[in-house]
Amino acid sequence: MLNIKELETTKELRQTYGLFDSLSEMGHEQVVFCHDTHTGLKAIIAVHNSVLGAALGGVRMWNYTSEQEALTDVLRLSRGMTFKNAIAGLNLGGGKAVIIGNPRKDKTEAMLRMYGKFVKNLNGKYLTAEDVGMTEKDMEYINMETKYVTGLPTYVGGSGAPAPMTAYGTYMGMKAAAKKVYGSESLTGKKIAIQGVGHVGEVLVDFLTKEGSKVFITDIYEDRIKEVANKYAVEVVDKEAIYDLDVDIYAPCALGATINDETLYRLKCNIIAGCANNQLKDEQIHGDECLKRGIVYVPDFLINAGGVINIATEVNGAYNKAWATAQTETIYEKTLTVLNTSLSQGRNAQKVAMEIALQRINDIAKIKATY
Ligand code: NAD
Repeated sequence: MLNIKELETTKELRQTYGLFDSLSEMGHEQVVFCHDTHTGLKAIIAVHNSVLGAALGGVRMWNYTSEQEALTDVLRLSRGMTFKNAIAGLNLGGGKAVIIGNPRKDKTEAMLRMYGKFVKNLNGKYLTAEDVGMTEKDMEYINMETKYVTGLPTYVGGSGAPAPMTAYGTYMGMKAAAKKVYGSESLTGKKIAIQGVGHVGEVLVDFLTKEGSKVFITDIYEDRIKEVANKYAVEVVDKEAIYDLDVDIYAPCALGATINDETLYRLKCNIIAGCANNQLKDEQIHGDECLKRGIVYVPDFLINAGGVINIATEVNGAYNKAWATAQTETIYEKTLTVLNTSLSQGRNAQKVAMEIALQRINDIAKIKATY
């Protein structure tokens, strides 16, 4: 069971740190290193906590600069999934996987199927899904080797890509934050900077431009920028300039740790609300710093839970879009609850949200403890 000590886990994993020290400090149950010479697969699967149920979380394929970076990422992401699934009201634990490699160049059917075989060998303790660098089609390949995969395409009876529901939940959380800060949930006329216009970022642009927000976008890939800028009325900015914009809301929708010592003092926004996982480089230091600077930060694992809510409906049978939509809409009220507590008590919003998630895990564990 999780304990309060794990709430203090904020430091980056150090090279000198033993792996079991990290697992013990962060509270992981199991970490599996998967390797296959023929396909070139190098993957790590991390199960953080399975008190609420099987550990559900996506697989990310990324060109990590080192194995340590990949390990740190999967440990942080899987821990985040424990809190995300718990606060989202799902009966699922937290897990995540990473595949080391360039998703645009290195991904093959055989590699994905080999990854699927490793997932299968965990016998349902970990359920995989789509994350950065992955597509619905990739889930289909993985599904050829294991049934423990979610986020399958709708044409095979799955819930399809989780990104639209993630974007919808992010939009809900953004509106709740606007209500708290500006007294109205309307985002019309609000200046919003979106960092990363991938699967989720693009749908968020769609919601926001329809509502009449003034949207700024950036990405590291020119083709992504062109595609989105051709479809929507947005202003394109350089990927470094995104931190210096005079905006109401900064929406991190790329990778994690973009709220850090180097960026926080540059941000001029009132609200940080985006879909990226692990946005705060250090939950304690940078969560506190947001509060000190008067920036309302919407906890990442709360605001971006729409996608996992969507795929979770597949776990118990047929995809149920109506349930997923209604459950995703609860992000609005949950965000208000967290922000009300955080601001009235002057406490780090991320920590407040973690406490709510942890409370649910511990409450349900008590129920499970009896016959
Ligand atoms: P994606 O890979 O489709 O999009 C990410 C985009 O960010 C890409 O276009 C990439 O080029 C861009 N990017 C990367 N680094 C950047 C940088 N430094 N500056 C600007 N752009 C950069 O991924 P996605 O599915 O849209 O997910 C985005 C984020 O949301 C990730 O952190 C992911 O873990 C998180 N998330 C996604 C989902 C989902 O349903 N897909 C659910 C929950 C959380």
